[in-house]
Amino acid sequence: MRPGVLNPLFCSLACVDGIGEHLSKRLAALVGGDLLVRALFHLPVDIRHRPVLTSGADVVHGAYGTFLMRVVSLAAPQTRRQPFKVTGIFDDTPVEVVFFHYHKAYLQQRFRPGTDIVLSGRLELSGGIIRVLHPDYCVSGIEFVPVFEPLYPLTAGVSLKTVRKMTLEALKRLPELPEWQDTAFLKAKGFAGFKESLEKLHHPCSTADAAEFERHRRRLAYDELLANQLALRLMRGHRRQSGGITVHPTEQLTTALEKSLPFSLTKAQKRVIAEIRADLNSGQRMSRLLQGDVGSGKTLVALTALLAVVEAGYQGAFMAPTDILARQHFETCLRYAKGLNVKIALLTGRDKGERRARILKALATGETDILIGTHALITDDVDFKNLALAVIDEQHKFGVNQRLSLSMKQAGAHVLSMTATPIPRTLALTAYGDMDLSVLDEKPAGRQAVETRVMPCTRIPELISKLKQLIASQNRRRQVYWICPLVEESEKSDLMAAEKRFASLQKVFGDRVALVHGQMKGPEKDAVMARFAAGETDILVATTVIEVGVDVKTADIMVIEHAERFGLSGLHQLRGRIGRGHEKAVCLLLHGARLSQTARRRLEIMRETADGFLIAEEDLKLRGSGDVLGARQSGLPVFQMADLEKDRDLLLTAAKDAGLICSQDPELASDRGQALKNLLYLFQKDAGIRALKAG
Ligand code: ADP
Ligand code: MG
Repeated sequence: MRPGVLNPLFCSLACVDGIGEHLSKRLAALVGGDLLVRALFHLPVDIRHRPVLTSGADVVHGAYGTFLMRVVSLAAPQTRRQPFKVTGIFDDTPVEVVFFHYHKAYLQQRFRPGTDIVLSGRLELSGGIIRVLHPDYCVSGIEFVPVFEPLYPLTAGVSLKTVRKMTLEALKRLPELPEWQDTAFLKAKGFAGFKESLEKLHHPCSTADAAEFERHRRRLAYDELLANQLALRLMRGHRRQSGGITVHPTEQLTTALEKSLPFSLTKAQKRVIAEIRADLNSGQRMSRLLQGDVGSGKTLVALTALLAVVEAGYQGAFMAPTDILARQHFETCLRYAKGLNVKIALLTGRDKGERRARILKALATGETDILIGTHALITDDVDFKNLALAVIDEQHKFGVNQRLSLSMKQAGAHVLSMTATPIPRTLALTAYGDMDLSVLDEKPAGRQAVETRVMPCTRIPELISKLKQLIASQNRRRQVYWICPLVEESEKSDLMAAEKRFASLQKVFGDRVALVHGQMKGPEKDAVMARFAAGETDILVATTVIEVGVDVKTADIMVIEHAERFGLSGLHQLRGRIGRGHEKAVCLLLHGARLSQTARRRLEIMRETADGFLIAEEDLKLRGSGDVLGARQSGLPVFQMADLEKDRDLLLTAAKDAGLICSQDPELASDRGQALKNLLYLFQKDAGIRALKAG
């Protein structure tokens, strides 16, 4: 139960006086939630100083200031197009106040000649006259103007005054809470208390407060990051304790597989396999994220893990986001496992009726050892006899619930999630801190770096004749992926662009060109891919459907049209499709006529490096954290105060701190532990708190 002292903060924004239903919706969108507690963490981006001026000599041209003016006269214009002007006097200096947008009756009432009024705004000095254009404040007393005014991020239909009202109300309701941070740490960093930091930001009172802005923000950013890390740690601890199926691999199948391979496993593959094996054997439930750049050999790791549960007498599941990919995994696994006497089956949305019934029956009886497939695997009627491991490829393409559903098919089933999107460490920590992490940081030997060139789209004709020569050359078989521009608005326009390019290439290459796109039916898509893989076509024009997984070794040229429209990670994934053979591969990034600074930089990065992690870090810098994993990514935390770029050091400290707390005081029973519960509540980490209770 949430401590009662926090309750005043856990009400709707509409509870604040003067904020109605309508406004509260806009505010909720601005602060990312409808609870008043969120307003507490909606920090200003800057603090504006409005010094109170006592004489005309204090006025600095272009600076903000507040002063008392005696109104001398008004010039109310005849038409709305003319400005409304007020003249007055401050100390001995003449003042001119100008309004372009105004309510005439209101101004006439407000500025009565002979009366005094307090004005505040950006002041201009010219020819000994003070000019104020649209003062921010026209009030009756100096006390109504903040000397230090926090400036907040705003949104349409929400004024600064409303946001201030909201944050001040939240601040007023915040009780004194016992400190949850380590005192020595606070001292070392020079951080103030939680409430004090919030007060200094929302209600600064001195130049010193304004100057300390960043320090106070960092204190709060640390609170936010610690809440995130602690909640994830608690969840991880809880899941581990909930117990997993203990698998005792005999190594019979896995050893046989390794012996039959035409190559040896990389050191990284061996290390990760050992990590997984230890998890399966531990009695705790595995939830591991395997990160490995494109081409690092994740499929083989997945198969080895699956065989490890099979040899111990259990079943495994392997889920991929698309039909093409599921089918490819199926074929790869069949090929690798040939002669191992393991029964592998495929299930996709295309298996219907009797065929599907047969697959499900073999699964339920335990005849099938490994089931590979798409989302079809998580349908309700798919029942395993004894599932012990679920592998989820390209896990970020699935929603949180889909991922959970597969592992829920059997209590205690282990989960191995895989991703080819290298995630910067900071993001991995905040998004996946509840999982253990394995990294395939080594590519199989003999891979050649892909040569990447950047050129304008206008060189396409020249490029086509060059391709013609290359393809015709007898001494080496070469195939080409031609990726068509990603068009923002719709899949339809993507398709049109691809069809147009296909038609124009067909004129040159005839039936050696094929087209594949996302709106094709599954079997149709497979047929096109199969013909390309078999070398029956030379050029495959594609929309981004080939982004994940596809493996054709002789395809070693890739053309990406309007590469500037892709994100860095997207480009990296695409490029990862080539350079899988032993020959030099080439990737051509074509760009449109106008290139933004960022787009140019992105293409340069692609040319400079093939290191997925480096690319992901750069992507994070160029785009901000939200986009690195793609818009479809779910479950990525959004921080209100912390900035993963600026506060990277704090995140790493928070991760360590959370680990320490969980090992020393896993139930948060100590004094600090009790205080930390408040922290979790304030940041709405209810899942973390539930894990605490259940454990
Ligand atoms: P990922 O899924 O990580 O992008 P894949 O699993 O598709 O990569 O592997 C890419 C290619 O590398 C496949 O053709 C695979 O057979 C090959 N491969 C995997 N492991 C090794 C290895 N240790 N040595 C050589 N080739 C390997
Ligand atoms: Mg793969």
